Amino acid sequence: MFDYLIVGAGFAGSVLAERLANDGKKILLVDKRPHIAGNAYDSYNDAGLLVHDYGPHIFHTNSKEVFDYLSQFTQWRTYEHRVLASVDGQLVPMPINLDTVNRLYNMNLKPAELEGYFASLAEPKEIIRTSEDVVVSKVGRELYEKFFRGYTRKQWGLDPSELDASVTARVPIRSNRDDRYFTDTYQAMPLHGYTRLFQRMLAHPNISILLKTDYRSLVDSIPFRKMIYTGPIDAFFDYQFGKLPYRSLEFRHEILDRERFQSVGTINYPQDQPFTRVTEFKFLTGQRHQNTSIVYEIPRASGDPYYPVPRKENNELYHKYQQLAAALPHVLFTGRLATYKYYNMDQVVSQSLAAYRKLSKTAQEEPAMA
Ligand code: FAD
Ligand code: UDP
Repeated sequence: MFDYLIVGAGFAGSVLAERLANDGKKILLVDKRPHIAGNAYDSYNDAGLLVHDYGPHIFHTNSKEVFDYLSQFTQWRTYEHRVLASVDGQLVPMPINLDTVNRLYNMNLKPAELEGYFASLAEPKEIIRTSEDVVVSKVGRELYEKFFRGYTRKQWGLDPSELDASVTARVPIRSNRDDRYFTDTYQAMPLHGYTRLFQRMLAHPNISILLKTDYRSLVDSIPFRKMIYTGPIDAFFDYQFGKLPYRSLEFRHEILDRERFQSVGTINYPQDQPFTRVTEFKFLTGQRHQNTSIVYEIPRASGDPYYPVPRKENNELYHKYQQLAAALPHVLFTGRLATYKYYNMDQVVSQSLAAYRKLSKTAQEEPAMA
């Protein structure tokens, strides 16, 4: 008898597997993919370059708890991600900062002048509701259209005015010259990659792992007391209220016969191209190699579910599923897909650590489920 059947070997499922196994619980961790690590999975390609199969994953957090927890399973390589945007034939820093504006418009504004410049362009809004409001209210329509509108339409298949403010609010507007994509306290990549981190996290005698297995094929045959589910919540309930939109991507990986392809880790393409961004992995991994590997991200309406789509009607539909979930005391729903939250890795780790604390608090024996 397993104490827990955990569905999904990404961060959400694996952190809980590790924590509960450490308490002596017997865990069966299943994933329908042929590997652990979920979307954070990385692997060595035919040229021997470490790549992120599901697009670039850059670790950053302000949480000491999350960083310390993961540090049990990996050493780190300090890495601060930098991004350029390809706009009107130029490559300029993204997030928009002083250099972005000066280069784009051939100006020579001083840091103290930039706020005033933005204020002269901004369209003040009383209530910031949408992803358009967030940007237009800070820097006006022209910069919004150059940097955000096209990218967002591509990425989500929706206009920014149709998305919650939280989406574009992920990317700040800066009035200084800081050109880092993130400003978190901890910014680092697992020294030997994410998959290695997960291997160490899951190397516990109480954890059994089944890959290439849909949990549905074994719920009736394998006895377990409780379930932790980290897949899409609508799939769990057979889409009974209709499908929750999840945005998908196609990852087009290339190995190039040259040492370097671009000057920073990622270049964003907010204008005409069919892809949103191109990432060169060697910046992220620090690997030295005579070749280099890049990935193009091409947004898709169908395919594997990667992004919950934050907007009011979707959140309402999610809450209907959440009510069904709340009525199942033996199943815990957690992670980016099961709680329909646009979470970064660190937020998922934090969510799982919090869920673990709650589980261990209410750990009185409950009747078996199957
Ligand atoms: P997942 O990693 O999706 O794991 C869920 C697992 O459940 C999957 O492996 C799936 O196969 C499995 N599953 C689903 N249904 C079933 C079933 N029926 N039976 C068995 N198994 C099932 N975060 C950052 O912090 N920094 C970044 O730079 C970053 N970049 C990203 C780039 C892209 C392109 C994407 C898509 C995400 C990015 N993220 C990033 C977010 C990060 O991927 C997630 O926060 C994190 O991976 C979520 O972990 P999870 O365990 O909730 O979900
Ligand atoms: N965004 C944009 N232009 C950019 C970068 C981001 O319009 O150059 C918007 C877009 O809607 C994107 C969101 O901001 O989906 C969040 O960007 P982030 O880089 O955080 O996306 P992620 O890495 O999660 O795909």
